[in-house]
Amino acid sequence: MSRKTFSLAELEELLLGHWPGGDAALAARARQVMAEEVGEEVRLRGLLEFSNRCASDCYYCGIRRSSDTDDGGHPLVRFDLTEEAILEGAQLCLQEGYGSMTLQAGERRDRAFIDFVEGVLRKIKEETVTPDLPRGLGITLSVGEQTRETYARFFDAGAHRYLLRVETSDPRLFARLHPPEQTLERRIRALEDLKATGFQVGTGVMIGIPGQTARDLARDILFFRKIDADMIGMGPYIEAAGSARQEMLHRGLLPESSPPERLRLSLRMIAATRLALRDVNIAAATALQALSPTGREQGLAFGANVLMPIVTPGGQRKAYQLYQGKPCVEETARECIACTPRRAAWARRPVSYHSWGDAPHARRK
Ligand code: SAM
Repeated sequence: MSRKTFSLAELEELLLGHWPGGDAALAARARQVMAEEVGEEVRLRGLLEFSNRCASDCYYCGIRRSSDTDDGGHPLVRFDLTEEAILEGAQLCLQEGYGSMTLQAGERRDRAFIDFVEGVLRKIKEETVTPDLPRGLGITLSVGEQTRETYARFFDAGAHRYLLRVETSDPRLFARLHPPEQTLERRIRALEDLKATGFQVGTGVMIGIPGQTARDLARDILFFRKIDADMIGMGPYIEAAGSARQEMLHRGLLPESSPPERLRLSLRMIAATRLALRDVNIAAATALQALSPTGREQGLAFGANVLMPIVTPGGQRKAYQLYQGKPCVEETARECIACTPRRAAWARRPVSYHSWGDAPHARRK
């Protein structure tokens, strides 16, 4: 069966588990579409989390502005990696043959932060030119909502992809998860601004938010299509880490579905997005692994084609605990690097090295 378009009702049915032949048949179909449209290869981006300072206060997030204790009840240590440490991370990606890295941090709009990020981007580009990568490492940036002027500075400095999850495209759910000054309209405008700047744009949602229905998630997939996303990064919604958990509890926002249910739904979301969007890059998000030791591998089996091994230095990982049970916080960058080919092998997939690994969707535009 070769289908090019899916209606809202069809996507909803699929997410409810009504694909003919069940989830195994759904995964096989998603893999087939993936092979045709983006190939079997798993593309790698070294994920460097370079600061947990955040000016936003998303109620579900362990590094939100108001968060003050970590999972162990100790004061949350706010950190900023130095330029030198970030450049070391970039060199590590290069040595391992990763063609790309993702730089992620909390959301800040102060001048010192913007200047710092711009400078680091330029340095990474200067220092990572090789015969395989004549334009240096590919860089995905993920530092939240910024002004158009700031996006332009980051783009000119060498980032060419930007990841900003919409979190949910449902206005009611978005408003329950965020303080009043953070609005869905503003988030959507930010995604449009990123496109207008020239970025390849990635977005995504959290799956299993209390009150979220299969129809809401089906609408999210249509939203990805409407804004013409190039990359999708989405994962299960998980109980927050540290004091942020109290906020979730207080607001009735703790996850309601069981971890196995949320994992199943997340895998169906990956497959459904692959079937509906076809030639985009889809990440097997780290959060999948918080629900199952093979969560990311299962994400690959359901049609994801990107892995983001964490290259954040071991010492800072505990302070970047967005949610409880975030995987790999005890590991070092070297351990995560060693683990990655094993994950791809589990899913019987080859790995792509020494290239940016842009989505065909972006190249075709
Ligand atoms: N500040 C940037 C931004 O907002 O895009 C990047 C960092 S932000 C912490 C990265 C992502 O973490 C968010 O887009 C959100 O989906 C995810 N996240 C935070 N808390 C989470 C939770 N409790 N469960 C699942 N995902 C969570």
